[in-house]
Amino acid sequence: MPKHIVSGLKYMATVKLRKKGQTQREIAQALGMDRSTVSHYLNGRNLSKDSIEVAKLVVNMCPKDFLLFTHTLLKDKDRTRIIIQTCQKNRYEGKVKNSCIGCGLCVDTCLMKAVVLNDLKAQIDFEWCCGCLICVEMCPTNSIEIKEVVD
Ligand code: SF4
Ligand code: SF4
Repeated sequence: MPKHIVSGLKYMATVKLRKKGQTQREIAQALGMDRSTVSHYLNGRNLSKDSIEVAKLVVNMCPKDFLLFTHTLLKDKDRTRIIIQTCQKNRYEGKVKNSCIGCGLCVDTCLMKAVVLNDLKAQIDFEWCCGCLICVEMCPTNSIEIKEVVD
């Protein structure tokens, strides 16, 4: 596993989660690190500049590539979700149309666990949607519309 890329991504997520008010213990638990590593990251130690630069390139990939690449590196869905949600550049919005037949394909394929079925209709939690559009590609009835939020 290219550890330096994972370290760079975890560093970026650590800094952002701290800014959001999470404690070092919470960050360590969320990202699967020990607290001393979190502390080192927050103090700017223990990480090369190259690792951070490579991680920035990964964050700047298109949403789908950022998600799939990070998931491939981490091999852990929950930590992938945290890093993607914390580091993604954009936010997304959209809707599920009434043509949804409740097949659940979007639920099964969403790595961000952003989709649930409610009364046999898909619902998307845009707090967690990263705009990868995998669900849009999978949906057999073209029922999902997702777009970037423009401020
Ligand atoms: S894949 Fe499409 S049809 Fe199936 S549950 Fe999701 S939105 Fe509905
Ligand atoms: S675009 Fe679809 S598959 Fe991707 S994170 Fe959002 S809801 Fe999940």
